[in-house]
Amino acid sequence: MTVRAIAQVGHPVLRRPARDVEPDELHSPRVQQLIDDMIATKRAADGAGIAAPQVHEPLRIAVVEVRDNRRYPYKPDAPLTVVVNPVLEPLGDETYLNNEGCLSVPSLRADLRRHVGVRVSALDRDGTPFVKEVRGLTAGTYQHEVDHLDGLLFLDRVEDSRSFTTWEEFERRHLAEFTRRIAPLGIEEGA
Ligand code: ZN
Repeated sequence: MTVRAIAQVGHPVLRRPARDVEPDELHSPRVQQLIDDMIATKRAADGAGIAAPQVHEPLRIAVVEVRDNRRYPYKPDAPLTVVVNPVLEPLGDETYLNNEGCLSVPSLRADLRRHVGVRVSALDRDGTPFVKEVRGLTAGTYQHEVDHLDGLLFLDRVEDSRSFTTWEEFERRHLAEFTRRIAPLGIEEGA
């Protein structure tokens, strides 16, 4: 596993919609290596997830994994999940005001709306289709990663630019209020 360089905002690969992975391609050593490298890169950077365009590969592959995350200590654990060609479907109309950062956007985080629940339909890294439903902050993570596959960044969804903070100021001045705001989601999370 190799830790790869993470594309930073301004790099065009982050703005190009990624393409679906073909079945044969998924089984190739090149793509299996890419998936291993994405996992290693995400772990090395302490991310909650990573999408292939973030390591300069315009393919519809993302990885989500949260375990005692130092960048997002309030996030509930989410098992290592590789999604290939994922499709998200909102579960109902309910949304919440999340606060997000991104490995491709240094320094800043901000508030934006996410669906409270989504159904994820995808292939796993062996090409086997699966469906899972996720809620709360985990659903936010999946929406953030799939946005990357469509060439979108969380910046594009920020409604109030006054919510931008550095990570340091977020922790100092906004984390407590944010934790109260998302507390009701924790009840849903386990569902
Ligand atoms: Zn991101």
